Amino acid sequence: RACLRPEDVIARLGGDEFAVMVEDGHDAEAAAITVARRIMEAFVLPVGVGAESVSVYLSVGIATNHGGATAAEELIRDADVAMYKAKTSGKGHFEVFHPSMGEAVLERHGLKEELRLAIERQQLTLYFQPIVDLGTGALVAEEALVRWEHPSRGLVGPSEFVPLAEETGLILSLGQYVLEEACQQARRWQARSDASLTDGPEVAVHVNLSAVELRDPDLVDRVRATLSDAAVNAQSLVFEITETVLLEDSERAKAAISELRALGVRFALDDFGTGYSSLSYLHTLPFDMLKIAKSFVDGLGRRGPEASFVRMIIELARTLGVAVVAEGIETQEQTDALITLECDYGQGFHLGRPEPVKPELQLSSAA
Ligand code: C2E
Ligand code: MG
Ligand code: MG
Repeated sequence: RACLRPEDVIARLGGDEFAVMVEDGHDAEAAAITVARRIMEAFVLPVGVGAESVSVYLSVGIATNHGGATAAEELIRDADVAMYKAKTSGKGHFEVFHPSMGEAVLERHGLKEELRLAIERQQLTLYFQPIVDLGTGALVAEEALVRWEHPSRGLVGPSEFVPLAEETGLILSLGQYVLEEACQQARRWQARSDASLTDGPEVAVHVNLSAVELRDPDLVDRVRATLSDAAVNAQSLVFEITETVLLEDSERAKAAISELRALGVRFALDDFGTGYSSLSYLHTLPFDMLKIAKSFVDGLGRRGPEASFVRMIIELARTLGVAVVAEGIETQEQTDALITLECDYGQGFHLGRPEPVKPELQLSSAA
């Protein structure tokens, strides 16, 4: 209020969002910028809260009726879009609305809504990619990879919507859907393997788990319930997580991993070598498996340092007492090189592409 003229209007829109309405017959934008600067300056010094002093950062979005808005709601929406833009440029900025900003935000907003509906309407589907024992050629597991069967865009891959799902919290329902489907599928495969093989190995399912899911306080209970609903052993489930999950150093995530491992669920470190793994924490990590990232596998069979890297990772895994899976195998040469290096398991287009489940899938088809 101290920054405003008596005739200006200030309102709290909710939470930590406030709106200021400034009228100016000459140059509304310049007037709004002046007010925005004044307000931001007022917050340069920390605010005293009890014995503490706390810094408050504001982001300001400015919209005028020259931006095309004709109703108050539109003006507020435009200001909100500009504020969102200001926020993404860092703390303590202001931005003036421009119609081009709206498009990206509205498209994102639209996609978010669509994703929400897609989960409700079960437009998500799982593809499975085999993981094979490189020594015997036997199928040991299938990794579940989510796809979005979009009514107009066709099949959309996870890299396009998993980050959005994480940002919006939709990842929790998405992840639960993937987990349920994967466990149901595991039970079907196992029923078949029990019937067809006397002492056959059980096919495990691998499910990718995002950092957001690991922080969900209900995760352990949900997993326990899902396994028991599907009548699947915890030993048949492997969660794949990336190194970045561990970098966040979340106590809750670590506790969730140990509780799940106590149930018998296994964990694989996905895309190993592409994150920021520090050797100093590797030996304290509760893992059962390392997945060597495709980028290391790519160079195998060619001249270059990759073979030494892969050999080193395999040796590291041995030292840690964990199994190794090589990802993204695309050629027979790479397969041969990995067999020579005594890599335990392999996965990649050469051994089997991710595919929707075929009812006639044979256990031996990937060998
Ligand atoms: P990821 O878990 O590392 O999965 C491997 C990705 O590499 C998959 O891409 C797979 O289709 C692809 N791939 C496998 N073999 C080959 C190969 O030989 N050559 C090449 N060029 N690519 C290969 P996709 O299915 O697009 O998945 C991308 C990422 O999205 C996954 O990486 C995973 O991190 C994430 N993701 C997939 N499904 C889920 C899910 O249900 N939940 C979560 N949180 N993340 C998921
Ligand atoms: Mg994975
Ligand atoms: Mg991977």
